[in-house]
Amino acid sequence: MGRNIDNKCKQCRRVGEKLFLKGERCSGPKCAMIKRNYAPGFHGPKGHKRLSGYGLQLLEKQKAKKFYGLGEKQFRLTFTKATKKAGDAGKNFLRAMEMRLDNTIYRLGWATSRAQARQLVAHGHFTVNDKRASAPSFLVKTGQVIKIKKGHQDNKYFKNLGEKLKQAERPSWLNFDGAELSAKILHEPKDADLPQNFNVQVIIEYYSK
Ligand code: SF4
Repeated sequence: MGRNIDNKCKQCRRVGEKLFLKGERCSGPKCAMIKRNYAPGFHGPKGHKRLSGYGLQLLEKQKAKKFYGLGEKQFRLTFTKATKKAGDAGKNFLRAMEMRLDNTIYRLGWATSRAQARQLVAHGHFTVNDKRASAPSFLVKTGQVIKIKKGHQDNKYFKNLGEKLKQAERPSWLNFDGAELSAKILHEPKDADLPQNFNVQVIIEYYSK
C-alpha cells in the first residue's frame, strides 16, 4: 500500500471532520479542527463549495478511507467482501474494518493512531494465538489472543506506555489483561461499537454505481 504523505490535519479539514490521525495531539487544544475548522485553501472559511450528490458520496467514502488509513484498492476490496456476506452490508463492512489487526491494536491503546499501530504490527511486535502476525490487514477472530511478542515487551516503546495503557478506553469486544499484556477478542464488535461518524449507506451508494 502506498504511503499517504498528505498533511494529516489538512486531510481532516478537507473532509470537515476529526479523523484522529495524529495521536495525542488530536485530543488536545492544538487540533487544527478546533483552530481552523474549514477546508484548506486560499479563500479561507468562505471558500467552501456546495457539493453535488456525487460529491457528498465521494466525501463520505474519503472520510472512512482516511479514518482507517487505507489506500483505495484495499478499502474497496474490504467493501466488496463485506457486501458478499449475508446480513447488513454496511455493518459487515465496518465490522471488518474494526477487526483489522492494526485497528485492534489502536483500539487496545497500544498505539495512539492507526498509522502507528500499522507500523508496530508490520515490525512484528505482536502475536495472535502465539503465532507472529505482521500483516496489518489480518482480521482477528472471536477467541483469539493478541500478545506482545516474547522479548519485545522490554522494548522502550512498550515500557513507556505505562499509565496511558491503564487509562485507555476500550470497546466491549476486547478484553485487555494488563498483567499479562495480552488481549482477547470476546466477540465481534456490536452495533454500538461501530463508528458513527460516517454514513456507510452513502458509501454503498457510491460503490453501487
Ligand atoms: Fe485531525 Fe486534529 Fe488530529 Fe490534526 S490534530 S489529524 S486535525 S484530529
